[in-house]
Amino acid sequence: MEAKMIELRTGRVKWVPEMSSEEFVEVTEAYEGFCVVCGETASGVEPDAREYICECCGQPGVFGLEELMMMGDVELID
Ligand SMILES: [Zn+2]
Repeated sequence: MEAKMIELRTGRVKWVPEMSSEEFVEVTEAYEGFCVVCGETASGVEPDAREYICECCGQPGVFGLEELMMMGDVELID
C-alpha cells in the first residue's frame, strides 16, 4: 500500500494510506495495519485495532485498516 504524509494545522504530520477499494479489502483480510506516525505497514493487526505499538518507530500509531477507514483516514484512489 502507498502512503502519503499530511501536514496538520498544528504543524504536526500524520501518514495516510492510499489504495484502491480492492486493495483495501485485501489488506484488511490479510490483517495488515498502518502506522499513522511513520507510514509503515504492520502485520498481524486486527482490522479494528487502535494505537498498537509500531515496531518501526516505537510509537502507539498502528491502527487496523477498518478503524482508519471509520476515522476517514484512508485515501481511496479508485
Ligand atoms: Zn510507526
